[in-house]
Amino acid sequence: MLDAYNRKITYLRVSVTDRCNLRCRYCMPEEGIQLLKHDDVLSLEEIAEVIREGAKMGLKKIRLTGGEPLVRKGIVQLVDMIKQVEGIEEIAMTTNGVLLSKYAKDLKKAGLNRVNISLDTLDAEEFRSITRLGNINDVKKGIKAAQEAGLTPIKINVVKTKFSNKQNIDAIKQFCLDEGLNIRFIHQMDLETGDFSVVEGGEGGNCQLCNRLRLMANGDIKPCLFSNSGFNVKKHGITEAFQLALGAKPLEGTINQNHKFYNIGG
Ligand code: SAM
Ligand code: SF4
Repeated sequence: MLDAYNRKITYLRVSVTDRCNLRCRYCMPEEGIQLLKHDDVLSLEEIAEVIREGAKMGLKKIRLTGGEPLVRKGIVQLVDMIKQVEGIEEIAMTTNGVLLSKYAKDLKKAGLNRVNISLDTLDAEEFRSITRLGNINDVKKGIKAAQEAGLTPIKINVVKTKFSNKQNIDAIKQFCLDEGLNIRFIHQMDLETGDFSVVEGGEGGNCQLCNRLRLMANGDIKPCLFSNSGFNVKKHGITEAFQLALGAKPLEGTINQNHKFYNIGG
């Protein structure tokens, strides 16, 4: 797949659910969230079918995200289904890590290659305050389980906000160094106002090199995180939805007033 600016698209980020077991302050409001109805969420088989068609068109890498991908029923089975798809060379996941100790081994067995774990601080109080619901010990257990299962190299995603404190950032840097984890810093973004920033230590955010499309849990294929458009695979058919998203892929993102981080998956 080549877009209008000759960028080769090989990577699909797949949001498997808009639900989450946390409520991070920069991502999801505490309540009043309009979640998708169950009937509007693609089934595991439908997601696999989109990936099969996409692989025929040139996709090589899949990242499962959410909401929180590990709250989606059948997530291990989905990894197994994607693993069977000819042409897919890598399956990764971005998770908050809370449920990872439960699933790491089975995910690895099913064919998941590696995980990115979102963790902004090592301080238990601050972690609870940022996520509103989280217990940091669950994430620490999740990291350990991922290491033991060989879901490596593991990347830790740290969102930096205006409240981040230097000491805590230094502490998490040291923790990653000690544990052999890669670390990436993401500055808090705002889709609605187009406040966008590149990812420090990662590949995201460099529009010239962008190689990705996004599939949302309702079946919309999005050309860009910072774009209002999305083309639904049920409405247009899978191949056509991919073509439309490719055609609509902007040289650079602008704003997105239609979607949120928690339903696109970052
Ligand atoms: N629940 C999973 C997790 O937290 O890793 C996957 C979905 S989450 C939306 C994907 C990534 O988006 C996470 O690394 C999260 O920190 C990041 N994110 C969420 N809201 C953000 C914002 N306003 N600005 C920058 N990154 C954000
Ligand atoms: Fe949930 Fe991830 Fe958003 Fe936090 S960043 S609320 S864990 S989807």
